[in-house]
Parts: sequence; structure tokens; C-alpha cells
Amino acid sequence: MKTKVILVIPAAGILLLALGLGNTCLEQRFVDFPDGRPLLAADYPFLSGFSRVRADQPGNAADAGVPVPVPEAPNSILAERLLLPGTAMETPLYIIESTEPGPVVMVVGGIHGDETAGYRAAERIISWEIDCGTLLVLPRANAPAVANRKRVSPGGSDLNRAFPGSLRGTGTRRLAGAIYNVIQEYRPHWVIDLHEAGQFERVSSGSLGQTIIQPEYAAGDLAEQVVETLNSAIREEKSKFLLLRGGLIRGTLVGSLSGTGIEGLMVETCRALPLAERIEYQLTVVYTVLRLLGIQVY
Ligand SMILES: [Zn+2]
Repeated sequence: MKTKVILVIPAAGILLLALGLGNTCLEQRFVDFPDGRPLLAADYPFLSGFSRVRADQPGNAADAGVPVPVPEAPNSILAERLLLPGTAMETPLYIIESTEPGPVVMVVGGIHGDETAGYRAAERIISWEIDCGTLLVLPRANAPAVANRKRVSPGGSDLNRAFPGSLRGTGTRRLAGAIYNVIQEYRPHWVIDLHEAGQFERVSSGSLGQTIIQPEYAAGDLAEQVVETLNSAIREEKSKFLLLRGGLIRGTLVGSLSGTGIEGLMVETCRALPLAERIEYQLTVVYTVLRLLGIQVY
């Protein structure tokens, strides 16, 4: 029988704490799920706008017999710094850093300014606290495009064709260089790039809506677990996510990570769905990646 993992059940947590089963951040890395099951979407506080599975349904909760991570206290601080300060492309980078060492994850929204759910989700992530590691959040990567609600920069350049860019360049190329510079500085384990598409991939192949896209060089099955988690809470077939693996277009942020040892994935929610629902999916992806890496979120 497949078992499922519940993320935070106070009673079970207290029980495990009493049994001395609490693990530290680094110990949790990929070890909480011995049967390979992902976290259940039912455990996500922000999954309220669609057909979520309730945590108290039989088989979904503490009876799973799988160790439940015991939350440590949040111990992170939030710092902010500006990329390209004083320019038209100035945009804040938020750094949520725990005193406890752990994985580094970067979340990028607003590379395309008309893909609202991505930057709205990223803005909400700024308020998250963590118990280990570092979370970098760049909510409005292309701030002028977001302000204009356009896919591309005011001059017509597509930021997601400009990576790795160059700080010595101009315009969008320079912006890409500033973002890539952050990646080189922090060397994140994962970069999550939040996007949106117009149509459902399951209805119209190639349109990419409701997909997670991973480059072909990706290692491990983390993205598969993310997709399983998302789909465990989605009832309507066309809204279920597909995992696409393959060569990414040259100049994309995630594609530019090839050969760096940094893992990346793109999220593409479908704009045919209500905005609140799309934001929840975006949040779920980031939350799931963090939890699978052993980072508890508060
Ligand atoms: Zn996009």
C-alpha cells in the first residue's frame, strides 16, 4: 500500500519529539520519504482555492506510519538589496537567511511582466520564514515589464532570451547579467523560475500551461515529486501538471544553468485558470521543493 506523508500535525509532531525523532535540516534532506511518496498537498496552508484533499481523510494523515518532520523554530532574517540601483531596471532581491546552514534556493518571478501569478506568488514568499538554508527571492525580475504588464522589456527585448547576459552590456542584457551575477555569488542548489502560459498543455500540446519544465541535464527525481504533490490536489484532468524534460531555448534563465551544477526548473501555470488558483500552484511548487530539500517553512 502506498503511504502518504503529512507535513505538520501538531499531535504527531509532539509525539515524535517525545520519541526523539526530530531531525535537523541537513538530516532531512531527501530522507523523510522512504517510500518515495511526495508531501501531500493537503498540508499546505495556502492550498484553499481548489479541490484540495483534506488532511483528515483516511490514509492521508498520521496513520501513514512515516516519520513526520518535527518543525524547528524559524530562525531566519530577511534582508533586501537592490539590483541595478538607480536605473530604470532597479529591482529588489530579498534574502531570507537562516542561522542554520542548509540548501540555497532562488525563486524568480516577473521575468515576463504579463505572467502575473509568478510575481504575485514570489511577493508572498518574501514573508516566509525558514529553519535552515537560504531563500533568495527576486519577485519582479523585469520590473519595467511588470509595471507595463508586458512580456518583454520596454525596448522589446525578452529577458528570458538574454541569459547569462553581461553586466557590461546595456538594457535587458545588463539586467540578465545582474541576475546571473546573483546566481554566481550565492551558487544556489536550485533556481525556480515562475512563468505562465495561455493554454493547457494537456489540451493543446506545446502551449505549456500547467507544466513543470526541467532541462535535460537535470538529476534526481525532485521535479517528479513536485508534480505528484501538485496533482494529488487537482481534480480536473486538464489542470493536472505535466513534467516536461528537454532542451530549453537558448538564453532562458534555467537553460543558462547548464554545466554549472545548479539545478533549475520552470513553472508554467495556465492563465485560463483563476489567478488565485494559479498563485497557489506556484506557491506549492516552491514550498514542495523547499520541503524536499529539508527546509521547513513558516
Ligand atoms: Zn514566461
